[in-house]
Amino acid sequence: MSPTQPFLPFALPEIGEEEIAEVVDTLRSGWVTTGPKARRFEQDFSAFLGEPEGLHCIAVNSATAGLHLALEALGIAPGDEVITTTHTFTATAEVVRYLGADVKLVDIDPATLNIDPAAVEAAITPRTKAIMPVHYGGLAADMPALLDIAHRHNLKVVEDAAHALPTTCGGCLVGTLASDATVFSFYANKTITTGEGGMLVTRDAALAQRAKTMRLHGMNRDAFDRFTAKVPSWYYEVVAPGFKYNLTDIAAALGIHQLKRALAFQQQRERLAAAYDRALAGLPVVLPPRPALGDQHSWHLYVLRLADGAGIHRDRFIERLFAAGIGCSVHYIPLHLHPYWRDRYGLTAAMFPHSQHAYERMLSLPLYTRMTEADVERVAAAVRAALR
Ligand SMILES: *Cc1c(COP(=O)(O)O)cnc(C)c1O
Repeated sequence: MSPTQPFLPFALPEIGEEEIAEVVDTLRSGWVTTGPKARRFEQDFSAFLGEPEGLHCIAVNSATAGLHLALEALGIAPGDEVITTTHTFTATAEVVRYLGADVKLVDIDPATLNIDPAAVEAAITPRTKAIMPVHYGGLAADMPALLDIAHRHNLKVVEDAAHALPTTCGGCLVGTLASDATVFSFYANKTITTGEGGMLVTRDAALAQRAKTMRLHGMNRDAFDRFTAKVPSWYYEVVAPGFKYNLTDIAAALGIHQLKRALAFQQQRERLAAAYDRALAGLPVVLPPRPALGDQHSWHLYVLRLADGAGIHRDRFIERLFAAGIGCSVHYIPLHLHPYWRDRYGLTAAMFPHSQHAYERMLSLPLYTRMTEADVERVAAAVRAALR
């Protein structure tokens, strides 16, 4: 490790000339907010998912917005409870609070770091209305078990698929499973990016209609509809106090071309993850869980856990990698440790032993398409050195 090597950041987007040209075209077109490109991005997204019968794709300005819209459309309200994993980003849970409902956090399966279906079933009360699985790191949650629980207890399922493009579960792409809604994120460090953005996907026509209305102020017609109408079209009606969650055409312009590259991006991430696996084999670390046979992992994150015999604290370990010029992150500080969630629900680490155990030992190594296998080798060398 030469100190003259440039810093290797934790994440970097890959934006190509086609994305840039499409954004410039949008800027020159005279229509910069939600319009033809946002529509095309929605259509392309549906095609990407194989155009399943009756699938609606609704572009939004973040996954957080999409999750909020999905729960709102499902009627989640004060008095209701929604179950999700403590081992996630706060966005998954905060949208439940936007609606005045309560969050029931549960522990993870230590083998997969995904929400534990048995813990979900044990947390169900008469107030429970929905389950929100997160496909952590890009590895599908145990959807067959979760959908079965939801079916038996008459619960809705909204998948937080912020990490899961493209991920498969039982051979089917996340987004086409039998849940009520699935929400993808196009935040800067996700597997494809629009800077900020998200996509709400559902087969429920009523949910789709409500989400489209609430995405734009609760108006029954959007501005582009009115702009392109053949008759004077200033008229619209406000049917609910909606939100401002629409995706701009500038962002959609990026998304159209990022989506075309999503499969190639996944292959590159998978190659890099395999290179990490080879380079780190035999060290006192727990490598990321593999997908089920025949399934695809999006490899949004490469999460390493220090083994109990590693002889170094995670925080010190990250400091050593940083000193070697390598950016890392931790996904996540579990929600039960954050003051808001901890204090509101009286949570302790002992209630989530698997999440807590993983959190104390985990870090996410850099993994993005602009990395080379030489970069992986450099990170692996720094990991080996830090463990000595
Ligand atoms: C990134 C992320 C979100 C939020 O996505 P935004 O598009 O930034 O709103 C939600 N859940 C998880 C698990 C995430 O990683």
